[in-house]
Amino acid sequence: SQLLKIKDLTCRYDNEDIIAGLSLTLNEGDIGCLLGPSGCGKSTILRAIAGFHPVSEGSISLQDSVISSSSKSIAPEKRPVGMVFQDYALFPHMTIAQNVGYGLHKLPSQKRKRKVLEMLELVNLSDLANRYPHELSGGQQQRVSLARAMAPEPSLILLDEPFSNLDVELRKRLSLDIRDILKSLNMTAILVTHDQHEAFAMCDQIGVIKDGIIQQWDSPYNLYHEP
Ligand code: ADP
Ligand code: ADP
Repeated sequence: SQLLKIKDLTCRYDNEDIIAGLSLTLNEGDIGCLLGPSGCGKSTILRAIAGFHPVSEGSISLQDSVISSSSKSIAPEKRPVGMVFQDYALFPHMTIAQNVGYGLHKLPSQKRKRKVLEMLELVNLSDLANRYPHELSGGQQQRVSLARAMAPEPSLILLDEPFSNLDVELRKRLSLDIRDILKSLNMTAILVTHDQHEAFAMCDQIGVIKDGIIQQWDSPYNLYHEP
C-alpha cells in the first residue's frame, strides 16, 4: 500500500523555485532514491518531508494524511520520520546506547533499555554500547545513526547522502547492509545520493531530479532497460 505521496510539490529559496511541481509515491516497505547532482534540490525535498522546509505549493502526505502543504504543517517532532545524515550527527557526549535511546524518552526505562539493545543487535554493534562516537569508525557511526533513527519506529526513514564520507569499499558493503536492515523491518525509506551505483544497488524506485522535478520514477530494472 501507498505510504508516502508527494503531489505537485514546489519549494522555494528567496523566491526561486528549487523544486517545481514534483510528484512521487512510495509504497510501504520500498526504498526510494532521489538521484542527481549536488545542488539540484535533493536535500530540500528531504527537509520538506521532515518538516524543516516550507512547502509553497502542493502537498506531502503520509499514510493518507497531509503533513505539509501551503496551508498546513505538522511539527517536525510530531512526524513519524527518522533521519540519517552524511556527517552522522551523533551526540558526542553521549554513549552509543544513549544516542540510540535518545528518541525514546517516552518509554518506561525497562522498555527503553530493551529497545536500545534490540536496535544495537540489529546493526551489529552490541559490543560497543558503552563507547563514545569518537571511538567508532565512520561506518560504525553511521550504523549507530541508523539505529537511533529507527528506534522510535518511524513510518519513514530519510537518508541524506549517508555514505559520502566513507571509502568506496566500505560504501558498497554498508549500503547493502543497510538495505538488509531496512528490509528486515519492512521499513520504508528514501535515500538521497549522487552515486548511481549506490542507487541501483540499494533502491526499489529511483528518480532522477532535474529542473526541480523528477524526470522518471521507476525501478532500477526498468531504468536500466530503457532504450
Ligand atoms: P542537493 O541536496 O541536491 O545538493 P539542496 O537541496 O541542498 O541540493 O539545494 C538546492 C538549491 O537550493 C541549491 O541551489 C542551493 O544553493 C539552494 N539552497 C540550499 N539551501 C539554501 C538556503 N538556506 N538559502 C538559499 N538557498 C539555498
Ligand atoms: P536514563 O538514566 O534516562 O536511563 P541513561 O544515560 O542511563 O539514561 O541512558 C540513556 C538511554 O540509553 C536509556 O534509554 C538507557 O536505557 C539506554 N542505555 C544506556 N546504557 C545502556 C546499555 N549499556 N545497554 C542498553 N541500553 C543502555
